[in-house]
Amino acid sequence: MAETKYIFVTGGVVSSLGKGIVAASLGKLLQARGYQVTIQKFDPYINIDPGTLNPYEHGECYVTEDGHEADLDLGHYERFLNIPTSKANNITTGRIYQNVINKERRGDFLGKTVQVVPHITDEIKRNIMILGKTGKYDFVITEIGGTVGDIESLPFIESVRQLRWELGQNCLCIHLTYVPYIAAAKEVKTKPTQHSVKTLQEQGIQPNILVLRTENELSKQICHKVALFCNVDENAVIQSYDVPSIYEVPIVLAKQGMDKIVLQKMGMSSERKLELTAWNNFLENMRTAEKTVKIGIVGKYVELPDAYKSINESLLQAATYHKRKLDLRYIHSEKLNEDNVVKLLGDLDGILVAPGFGQRGVDGKFAALKYARENDKPTFGVCLGMQCMVIEFARDVLGLTEANSTEMNEYTPYKVIDIMEGQKNLTVMGGSMRLGSYDCKIEKGSKAYEAYKSELIRERHRHRYEFNNEYKELFESNGMKCTGINPDTGLVEVVEIPALRWYVGTQFHPEYNSTVVKPNPLFMSFIEATTNEVNK
Ligand code: GLN
Repeated sequence: MAETKYIFVTGGVVSSLGKGIVAASLGKLLQARGYQVTIQKFDPYINIDPGTLNPYEHGECYVTEDGHEADLDLGHYERFLNIPTSKANNITTGRIYQNVINKERRGDFLGKTVQVVPHITDEIKRNIMILGKTGKYDFVITEIGGTVGDIESLPFIESVRQLRWELGQNCLCIHLTYVPYIAAAKEVKTKPTQHSVKTLQEQGIQPNILVLRTENELSKQICHKVALFCNVDENAVIQSYDVPSIYEVPIVLAKQGMDKIVLQKMGMSSERKLELTAWNNFLENMRTAEKTVKIGIVGKYVELPDAYKSINESLLQAATYHKRKLDLRYIHSEKLNEDNVVKLLGDLDGILVAPGFGQRGVDGKFAALKYARENDKPTFGVCLGMQCMVIEFARDVLGLTEANSTEMNEYTPYKVIDIMEGQKNLTVMGGSMRLGSYDCKIEKGSKAYEAYKSELIRERHRHRYEFNNEYKELFESNGMKCTGINPDTGLVEVVEIPALRWYVGTQFHPEYNSTVVKPNPLFMSFIEATTNEVNK
């Protein structure tokens, strides 16, 4: 394989422009030309990883196969590229500093003063190149979190500047900015972009390509003006205007030849054809779907859809494969109770009870589950959602009215969900849950087996509590079956009520393992059950 090429994606003007989507879309296009691509995210915050961050701060915490609690952009990378990421794909300032300080304590710096330049920047550069050095990739795309000009992103930008110098044509910088439309003046404004590029230039980086986020398509003159003021080739001023789905973005970029421009600038041939058949079929299904499927997510972070990002995308992918538009409703679990449950859930085709932590909002989850179980609505419980299924069943069917998880009540007389043995004496909260992919043995004939069509699967986890096996027989003899079990530990991974049409809970998070070209089998099966109901 030729030398690995490094592409950096920085952002300017404001955050939340969708740098992750642009990075993933470019990655998709290079992959569709037959190149091996990986994408990584470098975040300037000091937390070691986002695992301890509240979803209000940072949206969903994504989990990689190797058990890293990661930024949600890694979810986009996997959904677009259909290849797994790992701990090496997400680095924070915290991890960089931790490594450097550990080295300093070991005496690695031989009496030198440890400084941001060169020690922190060297560590950043070393981390940027870890995946490239495996020899597995033609392209390593690195998204730099935050916005240029932020104090905390300076060491990252400086590292990119140095790498640019060291790698020459094997390195390319893409800068994403915003071109706002000022309604009162009926004009789009390029000044914020000019300022943002100037900031980058002051820090020693001249971007090779600009991606302009805009609401509507921009005129040629505007792109010409940006090119002229920012020292960027006119054909390298790419626009990323609003589209109905993030999965359209690769097509928008391909139409402007972005992948070709990247290849040309890096001295590579652009002869290989773009192979996007499966991707385009997916988009076609999305564009032409007429019928709708109405799914409600019951959770406590409903004001913040990013908190359930992977679930939203998994539902959307599965709905699209079933040629349905997804009508997603967020139902606030704190506002849900037995009195309003029919009003709020009655017209849904299916209910997904979301993952989560702590007591807040669980009573609403119980109300939703009781209603769903008694009315045979297709229902999917994920992680805490599955644990709530177990508790609700224990209380209402088994008559153990005080049943609970010890997470919610340490002193419950019926600990149907209990802390895992290995979690009991932990003193450190960061990175210490049961994380990452584990095997699960699926019982033949179950809904889970129908979905996966396999007796052995692997899915990703993020939890501290588990189904208490002491109650297994009682549950099973009363109609709730444990149909997925970890073969090494006996931990219950899947529960279902076979008498109902589709009532399945998983201790694992199947949403972390669902991509555009390979939707997750359980989400597919769930949507199939809900659309059967629509057909009735
Ligand atoms: N709070 C529960 C546990 O730790 C569920 C976690 C989750 O939903 N991710 O087991």
